[in-house]
Amino acid sequence: MVLRKSHHWQRRLFEMFKFKVGDEVLVSAGKDKGKKGKIGKIFPKESKVLIESINIIKKHKKVSKGQSSGIYEISRSVSVAKVSLICPKCGKQTRIGFLIEAGKKNRICKKCKGILK
Ligand SMILES: [Zn+2]
Repeated sequence: MVLRKSHHWQRRLFEMFKFKVGDEVLVSAGKDKGKKGKIGKIFPKESKVLIESINIIKKHKKVSKGQSSGIYEISRSVSVAKVSLICPKCGKQTRIGFLIEAGKKNRICKKCKGILK
């Protein structure tokens, strides 16, 4: 059981590395389903990504030193399982693959086979 668990963890970690900051993604599940946004930050340990203007929560803040009270809008991170990449080449919702060429690992779009940055 322990072995299976760690294998699962490694696979999830591998999925994480497919995404990069700046990638345009589509949310495929949850309350923001169908929304697009750019990855602003990646959290490998939590298998989560922060997508600009997605999963916004409103937070009331009480007065603290140097800050006034009010309502703040904060983006919360989303599980990578709920997002898929939008290929900058073909514009389709796709999955990321890898292509090793001349010892260099490139990310490729599984739909159009275009090399992604
Ligand atoms: Zn593509």
